Amino acid sequence: MRCFFLLCAFSFYLFADAHIFLYHRFNDDRYPSTNTQNSVLRKQFEFLRDNNYTVVPLQAIVDKLNQNETLPEKWVTLTIDDGYKSFLNALPIFEEFGYAFTMFVYVEAAEKNYPDFLNWEELKDLEKRGGTLAFHSYLHAHQTKQSAEELRADFKKGLELYEKRAGSKSSFYSYPYGEYNDEVKNIAKEFGFSAILNQNIGAVSDTSSVYDLNRFALVGDANIKPLLKYKTLEAEWIEPKVYPLSGNITKIKANISDNVTKAQLYITDLGWRDIAVKNGLVDYDMNEKLQKSRVRVILRCDNKISTKILVKD
Ligand SMILES: [Zn+2]
Repeated sequence: MRCFFLLCAFSFYLFADAHIFLYHRFNDDRYPSTNTQNSVLRKQFEFLRDNNYTVVPLQAIVDKLNQNETLPEKWVTLTIDDGYKSFLNALPIFEEFGYAFTMFVYVEAAEKNYPDFLNWEELKDLEKRGGTLAFHSYLHAHQTKQSAEELRADFKKGLELYEKRAGSKSSFYSYPYGEYNDEVKNIAKEFGFSAILNQNIGAVSDTSSVYDLNRFALVGDANIKPLLKYKTLEAEWIEPKVYPLSGNITKIKANISDNVTKAQLYITDLGWRDIAVKNGLVDYDMNEKLQKSRVRVILRCDNKISTKILVKD
């Protein structure tokens, strides 16, 4: 056990990892599962400021990755999904701290002036106040359930409207509900984004793909301190690749770069367990029923973490 810890701790210091946070609603008690109170937001920002974190625009991380440069220490990027009106509650705090942000726009909601959402005029105004706008689909559908045709039609319609209203192309895309599989990702890539963001729990490292950037979703009184300690576990997921048809998960197989003999495995609703690693390979047999249609499978070695999301289609 001690050896395991030391090996992990050794690699901890070699790379700087960036962290991307995701918010939805602010100071809006009606939806506790997606809400952050202003008092909590202020505490999070004070923590970042007092501990010398640098909040950078998303583009800065994408540039470093594209240029194959090392990510500087303590970089953080802030993103908000959906474009709820309640962001106006938090905007003065973002401005007070001078923190840049990217707002991912649910285009149909802005277009049709849904009451809870910012309209295009309000969204455009964010660009003068530290914000970057980006695309978050037209329909905000569960995209793994859409056919390739439906999915391409959503991008086409949504991006045409987005470009007309925003007056520029969207550099970035984030999946509605953070739900995707390889097919959804490959179709999204056809539309020329310079980065695609998921909602997997994990950091961003020098080796992260710009088409698969992890984000930590923050809700309630989330403490960001432990999240900022997470680093990237380099993992090549071999099995499962998709949500199992039978609904039963039977094997977890992945290559991990760390020279360890033990790791921890987490599966949504099935909890954490210790598993063995042999020569960098996780090959764990099990036979358990998945409880939810969206499941996170996490491999962790000390503070290094890799997440695979499985979504029933
Ligand atoms: Zn969303």
